[in-house]
Amino acid sequence: MSRQILSLLAIAAVGVTLAPAPASAQPRPTQPPAAQAPAKAVDCEQVKCIALTFDDGPGKYAGALLDTLKKYNAKATFFLEGQYVHSRPSFVKRMAQEGHELGNHSYKHPNFTTLEPGAVRDEIKKTQDAVKKAAGVEPKLLRPPYGMADIQTSDIAAEFGMPMILWTAGSRDWATKNEAEIKKQTLAVAKQDGIILMHDWVKQTVDSMPSIIKTLQKNGYQLVTVSDVVKRENLQPGDIYPVPEGWQK
Ligand SMILES: [Zn+2]
Repeated sequence: MSRQILSLLAIAAVGVTLAPAPASAQPRPTQPPAAQAPAKAVDCEQVKCIALTFDDGPGKYAGALLDTLKKYNAKATFFLEGQYVHSRPSFVKRMAQEGHELGNHSYKHPNFTTLEPGAVRDEIKKTQDAVKKAAGVEPKLLRPPYGMADIQTSDIAAEFGMPMILWTAGSRDWATKNEAEIKKQTLAVAKQDGIILMHDWVKQTVDSMPSIIKTLQKNGYQLVTVSDVVKRENLQPGDIYPVPEGWQK
């Protein structure tokens, strides 16, 4: 069966949960309040957007990071590792409540391209379940560990109704672990509609965030979620964004 057909089947199977609501759609008054705080509609066609993403968490410094994000009215996206969702569920709940986006980054961070399909499904499913249990919402985006994906990964992402999100640039925070370097690198790679890779288990990242956010905002950026930034791409389940060099669909 072709990948395209598989994708279509997957789309049919998961139905309405896939498509993000259009910016103009207002929740009907009869609906129960969403567990996730409704994010204020941001139109990245109109404003200068950037998405900071934090991987492998929730890390132990997530609480301080959430305080900073709240203070500066900034939104972020957290690509969560299921094992830490399980051990630090209160951070995950708070992320959702404060309007941040939650993504799936596997359960224990294996390289998906080395696993059998069943093991990949298991990694994704266990993390979906853990996030749902902690925060009442299910991730709609997948970031495969190390950004490593192949057609099998794409097909399985499609089964779960999720596009795969990589990054436009990294802060190299895990390598430098130095506040000044993290700020310098992040500002050097910041660009409109950029998706920046960071980690909330790196203390220096969390410590440098007030300064980074203030500078980005001073430069006209609005800090938004990945879904805000990719809205106009109309990503389908199994798609990958940004498309890596050499990626064949
Ligand atoms: Zn990771």
